Amino acid sequence: MKKVRISDLLALTPEGQSVSVKGWVRTKRGNKNVAFIALNDGSTINNIQIVVDMASADEELLKDVTTGACVCVEGRLVESVGSGQPVEVQADKIEIYGKADSTYPLQKKGHSMEFLREIAYLRPRTNTFGAVFRIRHAMAYAIHKFFNDKGFYYWHTPLITASDCEGAGAMFNVTTMDLNNVPKTEDGAVDYSQDFFARQTALTVSGQLEGELGALALGQIYTFGPTFRAENSNTPRHLAEFWMIEPEMAFYDLEDNMALAEEFIKYCVQYALDNCMDDLTFLNNMFDKELIERLRGVVACDFVRLDYTEGIRILGESGKKFEFPCTWGCDLQSEHERYLVEEYFKKPVILINYPKEIKSFYMKQNEDGKTVRAMDVLFPKIGEIIGGSEREADYEKLNAIIEERGMSKETLWWYLDTRRWGSAPHSGFGLGFERLLLFVTGMANIRDVIPFPRTPKNAEY
Ligand code: ATP
Ligand code: MN
Repeated sequence: MKKVRISDLLALTPEGQSVSVKGWVRTKRGNKNVAFIALNDGSTINNIQIVVDMASADEELLKDVTTGACVCVEGRLVESVGSGQPVEVQADKIEIYGKADSTYPLQKKGHSMEFLREIAYLRPRTNTFGAVFRIRHAMAYAIHKFFNDKGFYYWHTPLITASDCEGAGAMFNVTTMDLNNVPKTEDGAVDYSQDFFARQTALTVSGQLEGELGALALGQIYTFGPTFRAENSNTPRHLAEFWMIEPEMAFYDLEDNMALAEEFIKYCVQYALDNCMDDLTFLNNMFDKELIERLRGVVACDFVRLDYTEGIRILGESGKKFEFPCTWGCDLQSEHERYLVEEYFKKPVILINYPKEIKSFYMKQNEDGKTVRAMDVLFPKIGEIIGGSEREADYEKLNAIIEERGMSKETLWWYLDTRRWGSAPHSGFGLGFERLLLFVTGMANIRDVIPFPRTPKNAEY
């Protein structure tokens, strides 16, 4: 008998045809005459209803058809008489693959998100996390499709690196040294020459620097991979391990970069609206009544482009009491970003031309000598979703700033070399995949859009 996923089964015309369906029991109810089993196989938010005629059923076996159990049902696909579903399966034979007794933690509905986080190894079996992780997959696919269709190359940058993408975040060391007996040099420092790579290495905080090497060879590339930051910030928007998408393009200036970022996010959101409507509708109804409206709003509007200096003026004249008052030169806090996006403009804002002191060394310096061609894309409810810039392509200027900041040319020499031979204007940005997912799913905590979150003091599963 042909195996059919429930998502496909629900779309069939019921003609009493034989079907075999496998999945996990969500609920069972019924009476002396008939039992109804709601079965889900993860292919869709919707369950298939299995109808069991008790007159011919094995009652002992049915006792083990409990919430969480895994079963295989053979039967006939018929039109459903009950409301709520177009088709149902009239069961002829049930086989139990795996029982689930009353200790199964997902018995009743309505668990708190905190509790579900504690049982992250089981939560994908809930409606909510099934929906979130199907959307996560769809967004990953959309991202590859977007860049592939535009002629970008998927470029793999190393996860273990000896270069620090300057202050992007604290790094996790990678070592095979015996931590109880660390080799030391004569002056007492750690002797990394005895380590696996014969130098100090860490998990990457960004693939950008190596991404630039790709762009200056293949023209336009993107990365999409895990990124690690050992920042001890327990916020709903930070993970210690997250996925980042970093396109990098030769011959793009800041204007081109902004246009690409806007087109890219809109494409992803539209893809979700076109392909994930069942799951979005569920999340909209359960968690966030304005979710779908907000997604449509972002696709339809033009993002604001705003100078940092102008942003500071607006914040100053807002008459609002911020927890951290903000003047020219300071880095914007979440409260400032959200004021601009949610209250002042009421749409996404691309903030550009930041003071050079608060931005990274590789950003292109403006003629004013004070600002750099940086851009942050700020989103409702999220704050910063993208950070990017036009890169400094001038050897002398880049060299000067590396010296000014006392950075190590021992690890960055190859990056400088790209400006020595065939340097080209280029730009790029980084999108935090989980920040995008927060926006698209309406989830409030970044721990709930990745299957196994890594945060301070938590690396379970
Ligand atoms: P933030 O100010 O929000 O901490 P950042 O300025 O340190 O972010 P960038 O270095 O610009 O971030 O990284 C690019 C993008 O990666 C950010 O716009 C964001 O979407 C995402 N990102 C950064 N840090 C994290 C994190 N710890 N967890 C999840 N996503 C992150
Ligand atoms: Mn940033």
